Amino acid sequence: MSTSIDIMSANRTSARTIFYVSSLLILPVLYVFFYVLKVSTNGYAIEHWLPKWDRLLLIFAIILLERIYTYKHSVSQRAVLGRDIISNLVNLYVTGPATAMIVLPILVLGPEHILGRKLVFAAPGQLGPFWLQVVLILFSVSFFRYWMHRFQHSNAFLWDLHSYHHRVTDLQAINGLVSHPVDYALRNVVVFLILGVIGFDPFAILLAVSAMNVIGVFSHCSADVKGGFLNYLFVTPEVHRWHHTVDVPEGYGYSCNYGVEFSFWDLMFRTYYLPKKDGQFVMPERIGHPSGLPDERNYLKLLLAPFGLYRPLPWFRRIPERPQPAE
Ligand SMILES: [Zn+2]
Ligand SMILES: [Zn+2]
Repeated sequence: MSTSIDIMSANRTSARTIFYVSSLLILPVLYVFFYVLKVSTNGYAIEHWLPKWDRLLLIFAIILLERIYTYKHSVSQRAVLGRDIISNLVNLYVTGPATAMIVLPILVLGPEHILGRKLVFAAPGQLGPFWLQVVLILFSVSFFRYWMHRFQHSNAFLWDLHSYHHRVTDLQAINGLVSHPVDYALRNVVVFLILGVIGFDPFAILLAVSAMNVIGVFSHCSADVKGGFLNYLFVTPEVHRWHHTVDVPEGYGYSCNYGVEFSFWDLMFRTYYLPKKDGQFVMPERIGHPSGLPDERNYLKLLLAPFGLYRPLPWFRRIPERPQPAE
């Protein structure tokens, strides 16, 4: 009898160990898989049939992961599902082209008109060897995004726009793109447009940007997957959860872990926070707005309120009853 109990508990322990080890390995394996997938299928016809198919596949893979490696502090996002879907569609398909239409003419024609010459165009090869261009893009883009993100937390108007991203009560694949389009464009579109007009090798841009995008998307994975030593290099789900904590750690001002893809900028500028207890990384218990504002499920309000343009429709508003005259 006791032998069979021993075997059962030994089986349970080994199953737990396998599960834990797999939760450590799954993140790097999926990083590499989706990176290779993106880079190797660039230019395939599928992009015409289903634009951003690789990003959609990545989101579905993370949703699946969230079902397998369930997270103990997970909070259902069902009440804001409509808002999440609209945000994904807008920021995936509209924000990029709309920003390009506005920003590109300024980037291209501005220097020509003001200075009488093209300021930002470089001939192919002028920007150094291929590998150097990849490194340059990785460092300059992540540096720009780190500081833009910090600015979005300290400037009142930019925080008005960015704070919608911080009102979510759990990080999940579905709300990685929940953000005001202007907030999203400032951090995720403008810098790539600048890269394009500078004249970097398009393949160098593809190699560098794909890596950053894959890591960035995974940062909103709610699965209980472990970053291990990757936490000191990349913005893993464990690192990004602390950026979204309700209770900002003491001494960290507006927030911590501002990096979008690499965490070494946070380490360098002393904004990195990931505590450890008994050799394990500790996770925040509550995700949400640092001032306690509830999540916003109305997408129109999210879109218009920061510009003072949101007015609720009067159709369903009740007129207050007239006070009865005193007798
Ligand atoms: Zn933020
Ligand atoms: Zn986030």
